[in-house]
Amino acid sequence: MDADASIRSTDNDAAVARLSAVQKRYLDDPFIKHLVPRAHLQPLRPPLINVGTFVRSYAIDDLTTQWLEESGKLNQPCQIVSLGSGSDTRFWRIATGPLKENLATYVEIDFPEITTKKAMAIRKSRELSSVLGTPADVTLSQGSTALHAPKYHLLPNDLRLPPAETMEHLFMIPSPSTETSILSSSLPTLLIFECVLAYMLPETSSRLLEWFVTQFSKSSAPSGGVLGCVVYEMFGLGDTFGRVMVNNLKTRNISIPGAEPFLTLDSLSQRFIGSGFTAAHALTLRDIRKTYVDRAESERISTLELLDELEELDLVLNHYAISWGLFLSNPPHGSSWSH
Ligand code: SAM
Repeated sequence: MDADASIRSTDNDAAVARLSAVQKRYLDDPFIKHLVPRAHLQPLRPPLINVGTFVRSYAIDDLTTQWLEESGKLNQPCQIVSLGSGSDTRFWRIATGPLKENLATYVEIDFPEITTKKAMAIRKSRELSSVLGTPADVTLSQGSTALHAPKYHLLPNDLRLPPAETMEHLFMIPSPSTETSILSSSLPTLLIFECVLAYMLPETSSRLLEWFVTQFSKSSAPSGGVLGCVVYEMFGLGDTFGRVMVNNLKTRNISIPGAEPFLTLDSLSQRFIGSGFTAAHALTLRDIRKTYVDRAESERISTLELLDELEELDLVLNHYAISWGLFLSNPPHGSSWSH
């Protein structure tokens, strides 16, 4: 398998893990089964993986919900761009949830092999396609590697390529369904990189982040450009446990040039500041599980499966982090965006 095929295969790992967490009732997601081939035959994952999937999903959903709520309060519908989106279902969950009116546009980007597969799954499933609009609203383009609907765009791209050459069109080319550009730098926009940046060199991901900051620094919105970014990734792989994680990936020919062995929690937030973001934070999944997950939800999931490897759970969760950054081109005093 070539190196990119190995990277693409991680999409299936993420989707099967999500399906398992749904089947075991950690997560509620009626859409994932339509994106996993032969979903009913997929193996359940061990409790430790299910808990990890739950915490990661809980944290990113929570940050996304806060973003959508904030947009609603300001009467500015927001845009979400998921980079390396794989078989993620977040668009469908938002578009059928209570904050759907606060979403202007959702864009998903991945390798063409992955977007083609996802576009086919969407066309095949009434549950997925009906959320996008009427059949006439949904169009395929670029040899069926891209799919467009009024609020949703699935686009093929290799994120390692220079964004000025491959992404400029997002802000310039009219979307087939709306006749305006797919994205506008005048609307608050959230980027999501869920388990993606590790597969790119640090300078490549910084270039991508900087490019988005530049687009929003040129915003013509009266209150300036507003860009947020959420990243989920592994880190701290220089210790014994981290080396075991890296070796496991190596046996599958998966290289992770973005997860430098001595990347610390602090360096995860510093990456945002170095790329031009105005504020940044980072937390390990271990701390999120212990401190941020709602108490009732924590109690509920603790009853789902017997988990006796609590030390191992802490060890694993301590090697994954969620970091988030905010860029305001025109920081107003007391803005709620600054939190
Ligand atoms: N974000 C999804 C989730 O959390 O369910 C999928 C995560 S999966 C571990 C990583 C995804 O990133 C895969 O779908 C892979 O194809 C995509 N990816 C990695 N490197 C990429 C690149 N250079 N260009 C586009 N997509 C990439």
